Amino acid sequence: MPGDPTPTDPAAAPAAPTEEHVSAAVEAALVAFAAAADLDALKQARLDHAGDRSPLALANRSIGQLPGSEKAAAGKLVGQARGRVQQALQARQAELETERDERILRDEAVDVTLPTARRAPGAVHPLPALVDRVCDVFTAMGWEVGEGPEVEAEWYNFDALGFDADHPARQMQDTFYVDPPEHHLVLRTHTSPVQARSLLTRGVPVYVVAPGRTFRTDELDATHTPVFHQVEGLAVDEGLTMADLKGTLTHFAREMFGEAVTTRLRPSFFPFTEPSAEVDLRCFVCAARTGEVDPACRTCGGTGWIEWGGCGMVAPQVLVACGVDPERYSGFAFGMGIERTLMFRDGVADMRDMVEGDVRFARMLGGIG
Ligand SMILES: [Zn+2]
Repeated sequence: MPGDPTPTDPAAAPAAPTEEHVSAAVEAALVAFAAAADLDALKQARLDHAGDRSPLALANRSIGQLPGSEKAAAGKLVGQARGRVQQALQARQAELETERDERILRDEAVDVTLPTARRAPGAVHPLPALVDRVCDVFTAMGWEVGEGPEVEAEWYNFDALGFDADHPARQMQDTFYVDPPEHHLVLRTHTSPVQARSLLTRGVPVYVVAPGRTFRTDELDATHTPVFHQVEGLAVDEGLTMADLKGTLTHFAREMFGEAVTTRLRPSFFPFTEPSAEVDLRCFVCAARTGEVDPACRTCGGTGWIEWGGCGMVAPQVLVACGVDPERYSGFAFGMGIERTLMFRDGVADMRDMVEGDVRFARMLGGIG
């Protein structure tokens, strides 16, 4: 038959793949697969030992040219060999894939306890954030924002406000005096000196709110801090009465604590207001919510009322000291602690949180800068 290889002519027919040749090829393939350290290396080993040009592929191709009598045996030999190689290849492939997956899991694992390299954005501290809010409330009513120095003349801090040289309040308020004593300077103990400053510099009528830092010689603990913030309000005009004071404070309280808050004025005494009152808020932790006062309530101390600040009608002698005619003008003033306001408003239990500068605290209550 033309075209048929002549099986009897050994020179024309390729030699049948020998067992040694085939098992050497298998052995080489197994060694190469085992030695492949990763999937790329295995891919190369597969091309070398199981690819189209691999010894076994070539052996397989040569079977077609073998004499018929040898084809079956050679086919079986090469077929089994290729099967073993394929098996070994798949096993190694699976092994390396598992290794790779484990390595990815390991390498890309995130230790959430490690500090990050990224610099976290800062935040507005809740105290200045609250001060801004207070200023917004009053500027919306047409008031101005005033300020005064933190190192204040004794006269503004005490004398102009009716604290005589021997007034017990001068001892009651533990004051930082600034050396030398003959300069009569103090770290202001309240924002009230801004009242006299505003009257003297702005004249009347005046509506001014003055937030700022104040200082007393308290130790830092959960409820005290030597540096704290107050906001002072002063309104002097013709015809102002206690009703204007109460209305202003009620509006202020609602802006701070919500529409449902209830205020009351309780008679008190300050040298620079007459009459004077404390501003209390109906306790919104126990009393306002349940209608009953909880004797164990930590916010109001079981009284049902929270002391928020002081207020009163500006005393005539303060007006006189600032050159304002008390027969024509009257006014009211009030002062609140910003820290106290923040504590009640946002449930901050410990004043030390406000001075420690932990950005998480600021982010929670203040705002993103
Ligand atoms: Zn309470």
